Amino acid sequence: MRVQLDPGTVALVAGGPGDPDLLTVAACRALEQADVVLYDYLAPDVSGLVRPGTELIAVGKRPRSTDTTSQDSINALLVELAKAGRRVVRLKGGDNYVFGRGGEEWLHCAEAEVPVIVIPGVTSATAAPAFAGIPVTHRTLSQGFTVVSGHAAPGHPSSSLDWRALARSGTTLVLLMGVKNLAAIAAELQAGGLASDTPASIVSSAFGDTAAVVRGTLDTIAALAIEAGIKPPSIVVIGAVAALDLT
Ligand code: SAH
Repeated sequence: MRVQLDPGTVALVAGGPGDPDLLTVAACRALEQADVVLYDYLAPDVSGLVRPGTELIAVGKRPRSTDTTSQDSINALLVELAKAGRRVVRLKGGDNYVFGRGGEEWLHCAEAEVPVIVIPGVTSATAAPAFAGIPVTHRTLSQGFTVVSGHAAPGHPSSSLDWRALARSGTTLVLLMGVKNLAAIAAELQAGGLASDTPASIVSSAFGDTAAVVRGTLDTIAALAIEAGIKPPSIVVIGAVAALDLT
């Protein structure tokens, strides 16, 4: 992919799972060309990768915090900066199209007739488990993995996931944003028939200074996470592969 970030264009750029070394070459090329970078709290520090004078703007969205910029104002800002003729990079943690609102931003720019390019990248859904020595698939153990958000608790009106079907999927389950509802999710998966001794691991702040890994089972993982003081951003891996430790 040849990256050409023209004035007046927005690039939705994957920041990867936290370590700047896990940015793609294309991401680095876009950052080198940017006049302004709107970054997320999970995005890596790219201050050493942009030209001197490039404006770096922090725009949320930290969960449940007051210092977030609303999605509407982020959308508006992207368009405003592009219409002013600037080369705009929208940098997210992980991949913009994995729980990153990248689709919404793309549509908003397109409606405003702002050209958008998309630079995909490394998602924490696979990278955080790898950091902890967990391959999300492994021959003989798992023939697939399912990535879901744990943001809405099972049974909550805004939840559209069929947790009992997920319990029967036979795939590794990778849970993003699942810390707060972990106990309820683990209970629902067990109610759906997933064995209580199924390995479950939680990987917190992978690639960061405060990285932590907690290992247990579907039955114990929620209590172990509380005991260990696990906070977002964390990923929960449920399935036989979660017992692997290829570190
Ligand atoms: N677009 C991102 C996901 C955004 S949702 C991606 O593709 O990775 C935010 C969630 O991502 C967090 O709540 C957490 O579940 C996960 N996450 C992101 N970075 C992480 C990291 N370094 N370690 C563990 N989990 C991470």
